[in-house]
Amino acid sequence: MSSNPPKLSLDQLKAAGRKAVLARGERAQFKALLRNGERDIFDAIADPRDSIARLKVVEVLEAIPGVGVTKVKAIMERADISLTRRIGGIGSKQTLALRNEKILNRVNSKAEKQGTLIVMSGPGGVGKSTITSELRSNSHIWISISATTREPRPGETNGVDYYFLNDAEFDEMINRGDFLEWAQFAGARYGTPKKPVKDALEIGKHVLLEIEIAGARQIRKVAPEAMLVFIAPPSWEELVSRLTARGTDSPERRAARLALAQEEMAAASEFDEIIVNTEVHEVAAVLLSLASSRQL
Ligand code: 5GP
Repeated sequence: MSSNPPKLSLDQLKAAGRKAVLARGERAQFKALLRNGERDIFDAIADPRDSIARLKVVEVLEAIPGVGVTKVKAIMERADISLTRRIGGIGSKQTLALRNEKILNRVNSKAEKQGTLIVMSGPGGVGKSTITSELRSNSHIWISISATTREPRPGETNGVDYYFLNDAEFDEMINRGDFLEWAQFAGARYGTPKKPVKDALEIGKHVLLEIEIAGARQIRKVAPEAMLVFIAPPSWEELVSRLTARGTDSPERRAARLALAQEEMAAASEFDEIIVNTEVHEVAAVLLSLASSRQL
C-alpha cells in the first residue's frame, strides 16, 4: 500500500507540469495577439480559458501597442483597478470604465470576427467522439451535424447525432449542392451540410467537423483557410489494443479495422496539426486555443 503513493504523485506532478506549460503557451500567444492588435483587453475579459483569466491586468495593458507604463497606471487609477488584479477578477463597473478609454477600443468587436473551421480526423478508435463530446458544452464551438445513409445505432437520435437519410434524400442534397463535402465510408455515405457551418462561422463561432480523411481532403480544397487537425494515438500498440478491445468483432472484422487504421495513420502528415490523444481535457483545450489563435 505504501509503495503506490510516490508514483501517483509523480504522475500528478507531470500532469500539472503539462498544464502549466500549456497555460504559459496560451498566455504568450494571447499577448502576442495583443501586441499586433488582433486582440484587445475585452477579448481577454471574455476569454473562457483559465490561463487567460489569470493574466494580470497590468500585463495585458502593457502588451497593447501605444500603452506605456505611465498610461497603464493612469488607466488603472481611472478604472479603480488595483495593480495586482487579474483579468478574471475585473468587475462589470471596471469593464465599463475600460470601455471609456479610447486607446483600448481599437480592434474589431467579437461579432465581426469569423470563427475557425476545424476539421478533426484520425484513425478509428483514437477517441475523436470523446473529444467532440467534451467540446459540446463549450459555447465558443458549434459542432456540425452530418447527414448519413447508415442506419442509426441504438441510442442515436435523428437531428442530434446525425441526420439519417435514405439514398434518394442524400442524392437530392448532393444535386442541390447542399454539402460542403461528402464521402463514402464503410458502405455508407456521410456529408457535411454547408449552410449551418457558414452561418455559425459568420456569428464568430468555431465550427468542428469530425469527419474521415477523404472528407478532410475535400475541405482542404474548398476551404483552404480551415484548420486540419489529426488526432493520433499515444502509440500504435495502444490503438491496436483499443480497436481489439471490442470483443464482439469477428477476426476478419478486426483485421479490416486494423488495416483501415493503418491507412488512416499514414495520412497524418497531410494535416496542419497533429495532437496526440493522451488526455481528453488537454486535447480539447489545445484545439480551442489553436482555433482562437487562427480566428479571422
Ligand atoms: P460512424 O458511422 O462511426 O459514426 O462514422 C464513421 C466515420 O465517418 C467516422 O470516421 C466519422 O468521422 C466519419 N464522418 C462522420 N460524418 C462525416 C461527414 O459528414 N463527412 C465525412 N467525410 N465523414 C464523416
